[in-house]
Amino acid sequence: MATTKRGIADTEAFSGLIRIHVLHHACTEGVFGLGMIKELRRHGYKIGPGTMYPLLHSMEKRGWLKAKTTRIDGRSRKVYFGTRAGKKTLDGARPKVKELFEELFEEGHDHHLHE
Ligand SMILES: [Zn+2]
Repeated sequence: MATTKRGIADTEAFSGLIRIHVLHHACTEGVFGLGMIKELRRHGYKIGPGTMYPLLHSMEKRGWLKAKTTRIDGRSRKVYFGTRAGKKTLDGARPKVKELFEELFEEGHDHHLHE
C-alpha cells in the first residue's frame, strides 16, 4: 500500500507505467480494481485500493476506459474495458515504452545525448 513516503514517491514515479499497464490489460481482457491490484503486485508494484480506484476513475473520465457492471457470484463488479481512444493511447505509448526499455537495458549503445 502506498502509505509510506517511499511508497507515495514510487507511485508518483511509476504512475505512467501503471496507467499503460492498466490500459494494456483493459484492452486485452478487461480489468477490475482488486484484480488489477493483484496483477500489479505480481509485477512488484504495491498499489492499494486508495490509489487504484481513483486511477481507474480518472482513466474512465479521460475516455480511455469504459466501465461495465457485471454480476459475479451474486456480487456486482465493475469491469473496465479499453475504449477506442484507450487503444489509440496504448498504441502511441508502445513505441515509446520500447525505446525507453531499450535505453534502460541496452548497454554499450553510445547514444546518451542523441547527438
Ligand atoms: Zn500485467
